[in-house]
Amino acid sequence: MKSLAHYLTNDKHPAVLDEEYYKDLMKEFDPNWLPHKDYSPLIPMVRYDGHKLGTMRFFVPNKYNGWQTYIRFNEWQEILDDREYNASESARLLLWGANLRVHCGCPAYLFWGYNYILTQKDAAIIPEDRYPNIRNPNLKGIACKHLVRTLKVLPFHLGDMARAIKLQRANIDRKGG
Ligand SMILES: [Zn+2]
Repeated sequence: MKSLAHYLTNDKHPAVLDEEYYKDLMKEFDPNWLPHKDYSPLIPMVRYDGHKLGTMRFFVPNKYNGWQTYIRFNEWQEILDDREYNASESARLLLWGANLRVHCGCPAYLFWGYNYILTQKDAAIIPEDRYPNIRNPNLKGIACKHLVRTLKVLPFHLGDMARAIKLQRANIDRKGG
């Protein structure tokens, strides 16, 4: 069984194809370095909307309806299988030690080239290889306001992550036992 130290230190990806940790993504949210005004602080709330296959889904409402955002933890299955840690510990390991991929269904995500930028960082759930040469040729920023907001509140959803892990482990035990 792979140890935690293995997850955190044995990074064999070439640097240019490296994936993104939560803390790395957070470092890049500089509101002064966006192709437009930062509207993420105006979003009143983000709702956890369920979990599937290592991916947490959230709902970010707007005036009329809202958008779903997705945060995928690449090492979810490995952490899930490692019973050395309880569900809360595993959730924390995932938040701080797993590589993330994200997605938002809103038009801005594609329009401002964020999908392209995140694809370059190997952090897009759905890759986009079209360079945003009109709207964001200098590749400023990293994510739409919905994803920025979702990632900012992610630590508050450690309880939801732990519950999902607990439930999945119970399901595995029921089927396997
Ligand atoms: Zn969005």
